[in-house]
Amino acid sequence: MKIAVLPGDGIGTEIVAEAVKVLNALELPFEMESALVGGAAYEVHGHPLPESTLQLAKDADAVLFGAVGDWKYDTLDRPLRPEQAILGLRKNLGLFANFRPAICYPELVGASSLKPEIISGLDILIIRELTGDIYFGQPRGRRTAVDGHFPGSEEAFDTMRYSRPEIERIAHVAFQAARKRSKKVTSVDKANVLETFQFWKDVVTEVGKEYPDVALDHMYVDNAAMQLVKAPKKFDVVVTGNMFGDILSDEASMLTGSIGMLPSASLNTKNQGLYEPSHGSAPDIAGKGIANPLATILSAAMMLRFSLNQPDAANRIETAVQSVLASGLRTVDIWSEGTTKVGTRQMGDAVVAAITKTITKG
Ligand code: NAD
Repeated sequence: MKIAVLPGDGIGTEIVAEAVKVLNALELPFEMESALVGGAAYEVHGHPLPESTLQLAKDADAVLFGAVGDWKYDTLDRPLRPEQAILGLRKNLGLFANFRPAICYPELVGASSLKPEIISGLDILIIRELTGDIYFGQPRGRRTAVDGHFPGSEEAFDTMRYSRPEIERIAHVAFQAARKRSKKVTSVDKANVLETFQFWKDVVTEVGKEYPDVALDHMYVDNAAMQLVKAPKKFDVVVTGNMFGDILSDEASMLTGSIGMLPSASLNTKNQGLYEPSHGSAPDIAGKGIANPLATILSAAMMLRFSLNQPDAANRIETAVQSVLASGLRTVDIWSEGTTKVGTRQMGDAVVAAITKTITKG
């Protein structure tokens, strides 16, 4: 079980260290190797995704990724910015399917900005297409760029595009995931305005005919954004394109209390995957030892389940996280009156202790 460990920038290094600690506590035969990525790699190699890092990721069964980015790189030419590393990994590994579960743990109902009755018991899965859409469409308008900006330019453009096979394969992923849940898929589009998303809607509908046991409905993205805060429990599996999925999954993460709780998995057709928290590098709190490592630890659990075929170990991590939350420990982002505030490292230690207890118990 080869794992490429890419901590990246900002809080990435702090939270990945905790996830590695948790993996080690499982006492399974993992081979873990680390490499630089993002701004950290740019500083040393002059590129956010050096060939050696890409090769390590390609050779691994799974990649455990922290986060990349820092405001100080905003003036770099776009291909050299840290965030390009994540796009490069997605493209080179063919990671087209992004899974973002949004689960509201009973202990964190109070940490959400929404009323308890709206979010308690929430368990939805957002499936975002990850290698197409406007983020990868050509051509892109890059006129007279100076330091990554466009002084005096009159226009800039990016192209939204999807091919039939790209939509078909993500639709299959969504319908198959729904079969293991409540058998309901909501496809989110903007078919009323965008040709690309009328096409998306038509293709998803066609694929849906192969899954007569799964209910399919369609929703415009603006309405989906509203429904997610009004009645999120109406959803089960949500499937959407790259850009809408980017925005809606961040919105969904806040339903659960904190973006620091939300794991994600990005898979290719061979179940090789990249596992990362849904949040970024949080430069505002980097180095303070207060970041919540649970999204990364839960991403490691998804890695064990999806890419490494270790469902029992995945369950052990998830149960340990639940017991730590039940014991009242909270990082600052999920802290509320009556609970105990802990730092990144203490939270990781508590999860390790909970796992060790289950191993000792047998
Ligand atoms: P962010 O997700 O890094 O932070 C948003 C807010 O959430 C901040 O207030 C931050 O302190 C808080 N936060 C995030 N993770 C947290 C955690 N684990 N515990 C506690 N609080 C947490 O988003 P941003 O501020 O918009 O972006 C910062 C940088 O991250 C940018 O350079 C951006 O491009 C990059 N980014 C990278 C990825 C990635 O690596 N996949 C994803 C999103 C953003």
